[in-house]
Amino acid sequence: MEGSFDYIVVGAGSAGCVLANRLTADGRYRVLLLEAGPEDRNLWIHVPIGYAKLFTDARHNWLYNSEPESELGGRSIIQPRGKVMGGSSSINGLLYIRGQAEDFDHWRQLGNTGWSFDDVLPYFRRAEDQSRGEDELHGVGGPLSVSDVSETHPVCDAFIAACEQAGLPRTDDFNGKSQEGAGYFQLTTRNGRRWSTARGYLKPVRRRPNLRVVSSALTTRILFEGRRAVGVEYAQGGTTHRARANAEVILAGGAFNSPQLLQLSGVGPADLLREHGIAVIADMPGVGADLQDHYQARFNYRCSERVTMNDMMNSLAGRVTAGLRYALFRKGFLAVGAGYAGGFFKTDPSLATPDVQFHFILFSADAVGQKLHPWPGFLASVCQLRPESRGFVRIKSADPAQAPAIQPRYMSAPHDRDVMVKGMQLLRRVMRQPALARYIVEELVPGPKVATDAELLEFARQKGTTVFHPTSTCRMGSDVTAVVDERLRVHGFRGLRVADGSIMPTVVSGNTNAAIVMIGEKGADMILQDAKAGAARAA
Ligand SMILES: Cc1cc2nc3c(=O)[nH]c(=O)nc-3n(C[C@H](O)[C@H](O)[C@H](O)COP(=O)(O)OP(=O)(O)OC[C@H]3O[C@@H](n4cnc5c(N)ncnc54)[C@H](O)[C@@H]3O)c2cc1C
Repeated sequence: MEGSFDYIVVGAGSAGCVLANRLTADGRYRVLLLEAGPEDRNLWIHVPIGYAKLFTDARHNWLYNSEPESELGGRSIIQPRGKVMGGSSSINGLLYIRGQAEDFDHWRQLGNTGWSFDDVLPYFRRAEDQSRGEDELHGVGGPLSVSDVSETHPVCDAFIAACEQAGLPRTDDFNGKSQEGAGYFQLTTRNGRRWSTARGYLKPVRRRPNLRVVSSALTTRILFEGRRAVGVEYAQGGTTHRARANAEVILAGGAFNSPQLLQLSGVGPADLLREHGIAVIADMPGVGADLQDHYQARFNYRCSERVTMNDMMNSLAGRVTAGLRYALFRKGFLAVGAGYAGGFFKTDPSLATPDVQFHFILFSADAVGQKLHPWPGFLASVCQLRPESRGFVRIKSADPAQAPAIQPRYMSAPHDRDVMVKGMQLLRRVMRQPALARYIVEELVPGPKVATDAELLEFARQKGTTVFHPTSTCRMGSDVTAVVDERLRVHGFRGLRVADGSIMPTVVSGNTNAAIVMIGEKGADMILQDAKAGAARAA
């Protein structure tokens, strides 16, 4: 062993940076944070619009693809994931959405004590530095900066007005008492810069003497003594290193990589491990099971006025003006990631809470990450918030450098197909309201030929894609296939936890970053409480 630490955190992503900060705060514990990707030095990580560039950037993105999906006509779907300090919080769309209070109450109802909304709210508040100030739901002074978009936009105003004309409510806070409504998003930014967890949690504490951060270091195996995790093996610059964890190894590699690392280390479905020649330490079929994700259908519109991001990006004068506005005032398109506005709605009025989310995006392209159209255009998308479809992550090789098989099985549950169709109908109802008529020349995709329910479903199958929210592959619970308990300890092991998006019992009804930061905060608190209790017992 080359180094000895109290805690080893694998993955410096949304949750990993939170853990590294909180576990080193009182100076008592030595922590090693291992990140497979590089430092976050690239300019486009920090300028929100750089989000579009990072989709296809192999230096900062794992660039995974799902396996061919039978419900989607055999298509594979791109699965970007951050591979850099800050993880996916360094490449994401920056939207700050917590999910619904009911999501966490549901987690609690499934038997996960300590995870109801009332239980987790203090961690959301503790994380937050809300630019609007503090109230019972929002916090100030936390490491995660949350701000309003720098300015409104006339087409977004028209979208919000169109929602109201369609009989849907308006909201000025998707993280308020009720999530339902149309409005402007808040972003994880400060003064127009991205506020990843690497920026908010890690950078301010990098000099703590009890924290060692190693970048470009791929953790290849968890080391066990019997059923106790005692360290990890990692590869850096062609050399294999070993580090010891005297207290715990904490996996924070995200929904694809945490189950992959467990499987590579002998913890997972026994037949899969044997197939790849890996000695089975524990037969746990739940490791890599229950993959959930948000699937979206994107509608594409030709705009009547040259006010969209396409027009800015497709002209030199537009790019210069936008660059200057950003440099001087931190305003304009460069200060926005995935979008300005959206909404959460019910496809059936009898529902208790919204079951679909709309993203309204001021650019258009044929597919995610591709070249913008040469004409003025925008997109509106719909995703189902609580999918019943379940997929999996399974290693394809015993080589840690090989990507695992990712199979979300989008729309494999009939309920998900129904909600997608109803969501698309609702989206069209909004987009046909008078408030937007001035801006819409035509719906280009799917276009007027796609009219019936069956045609809409076929469109979703052929053109839909992910909203990048994979979760639940090391699911928290107490049933036979659950992987971690309500304190995030891997069932049947000592010294081993998972604390990232993979532990969500069900995906939250919204974008996932905020909830995963909360998981990091709560996970750190539980680890420190358990350490204290252990020390008291030993004394
Ligand atoms: C393109 C995109 C857009 C998104 N947009 C939004 C949005 O607008 N709002 C929102 O709320 N959410 C958004 N999300 C989702 C959100 O960002 C993620 O759910 C969240 O960041 C995941 O957090 P995590 O801690 O589980 O994993 P990650 O943040 O992905 O962190 C995992 C880290 O572990 C590292 N790692 C993995 N395996 C190993 C290993 N073996 N050894 C060492 N290091 C390892 C990875 O490189 C990575 O840095 C988006 C995601 C993507 C990809």
